[in-house]
Amino acid sequence: MSKQYQFKLVLLGESAVGKSSLVLRFVKDQFDDYRESTIGAAFLTQTVTLDDQSTVKFEIWDTAGQERYKSLAPMYYRNANCAVVVYDITQSASLEKARTWIRELQRQADPSIVIALCGNKTDLEARRQVSQEGGEETSAKTGEGVQDIFTAIAKKLPLTA
Ligand code: GDP
Repeated sequence: MSKQYQFKLVLLGESAVGKSSLVLRFVKDQFDDYRESTIGAAFLTQTVTLDDQSTVKFEIWDTAGQERYKSLAPMYYRNANCAVVVYDITQSASLEKARTWIRELQRQADPSIVIALCGNKTDLEARRQVSQEGGEETSAKTGEGVQDIFTAIAKKLPLTA
């Protein structure tokens, strides 16, 4: 019988970088140009099947990026196993914000947390402000890289017992 694992994943990053869109692409393979902003946090699940047929079920917490909800974030990352910190490749300020989130996670989250930095909106290449530098990149709009980033996280998690 294949093993089944479950992990809690939190999405963090500036408002409008595409966190909710990434989740929608990953979970439902859909994209919506006119999504309403997430208020507070939303919860969804999706499962990744690895090469050995073991499955990793992600409990995904999509947090609102607005400053007024920032104080809620620790509630979501405190017992998270993994975090996807998202920026928008067309907004260099959003990468600075992402780096701030990573520093906060390193200070405050569980030391075993797996952190992935994700540059989203690669379909807007003509407006790129952040060079690739080998980081993970996605487009929630086209789906490029989306499955890969979650699979990469699944492979970094402690799949034991
Ligand atoms: P969030 O606030 O970080 O959750 O961002 P949203 O998912 O609400 O997305 C903010 C805006 O960016 C919306 O208008 C989305 O349609 C758009 N968006 C999200 N991902 C992409 C992408 O990969 N490419 C493009 N072109 N637009 C995107």
